[in-house]
Amino acid sequence: MINDKNSQKIADFIKNWARKHSIWVLAYGTGCGAIEIPPTMTSRYDAERLGVRGAATPRQADVLLITGYLTTKTLKRVIRVYEQMQDPKYVIGFGSCTINGGMYYDSYNTIKVLDKYLPVDVYINGCMPRPEAVLAGFGKLQQLIAEGKANGAQKYKDDHEYYRGNLRKIIGNKYEMPLYNW
Ligand code: SF4
Repeated sequence: MINDKNSQKIADFIKNWARKHSIWVLAYGTGCGAIEIPPTMTSRYDAERLGVRGAATPRQADVLLITGYLTTKTLKRVIRVYEQMQDPKYVIGFGSCTINGGMYYDSYNTIKVLDKYLPVDVYINGCMPRPEAVLAGFGKLQQLIAEGKANGAQKYKDDHEYYRGNLRKIIGNKYEMPLYNW
């Protein structure tokens, strides 16, 4: 007999199964690692066979792929892009620069730890990560989606003041962004 709990479980399974096989990616090519995206998406590695394909605008995208270092000037624009995306949405930090600053660890105008500003679901390490690593990163994200554990967007809502506060430390109130409209 199927009770409410079981039907919810089945619905979640189907929903997550569909989501994991339909990942539309907005690649925000901020750093040198962006050069690995074309081979990942084209015939040699053919990410589309795994359900991963490019999206034209933030509103059509499920995944924001940040491909490398972010300058302090770019940061607020990347955040604005993320906030324009619809739920469900995910963030992948691509390359060492997004994890700890990478080779720009002591630069005065790049940010060092991406998940102080955006809720990163998966990091892909390397400088720069090869297409095999990128596919592995998408595989990890698909696994998290299937298990219902890719919950960065919820974290962003819950801890919004934390993320905004970190942004203000970088750019101050001079560039106040529009309110995040859930
Ligand atoms: S991790 Fe390496 S390849 Fe990627 S943006 Fe930084 S320096 Fe460039």
